Amino acid sequence: MKIICIGMNYAKHIEEFAGERPRNPVFFLKPETALLRNNQPFYYPDFTKNLHYETELVLRVGKMGRSIPEQFAVRYISGIGLGIDFTARDLQDECRKKGLPWEIAKGFDFSAPISPYFIPFEDFKDINNINFRLELDGRTVQTGNSANLIFPFKTIISYVSQFITLKIGDLIFTGTPDGVGSVETGCNLKAYIEDKLMLDFDIK
Ligand code: MG
Repeated sequence: MKIICIGMNYAKHIEEFAGERPRNPVFFLKPETALLRNNQPFYYPDFTKNLHYETELVLRVGKMGRSIPEQFAVRYISGIGLGIDFTARDLQDECRKKGLPWEIAKGFDFSAPISPYFIPFEDFKDINNINFRLELDGRTVQTGNSANLIFPFKTIISYVSQFITLKIGDLIFTGTPDGVGSVETGCNLKAYIEDKLMLDFDIK
């Protein structure tokens, strides 16, 4: 399986970094070894001093497809969960400055905690109006709603599948809203879709 991550997909998050709104979805990949499952603790890596959380709705692919037209794209989603796109911001800044790929900042081991379960696609009344949020030590630090995606799920799936075949079990991180920030050893992260607790793990 593969993990596809969309970057710069919420206008307010782009503003945080004074970035430019992209014309097409921007994506990168994380390897399977990035997954952190079942709310296991995350061990703060020694190669960064500025580890950021990015809370993201995650699509699970339920059907193989390539060059998927937008009008059929949501049929390829089997479930929606929540994930953290952990980012070594200091390493990413260096990569950006040099125009280098940023895998070391985004694709390292356990950089992709995902919720133990995914909510079945059919259970959503409107996938373009999903609220989610992150609590850091009990304080809400990020809130998002899929209505504010620059590129909605159907566009992401259609666009990515022009280049890369989607397979059953692939995960698509759909981008972070604003409010990203750093975590420290000893923090607890809880993330919710609507009022459902999806992620609950500690930084050690
Ligand atoms: Mg992200």
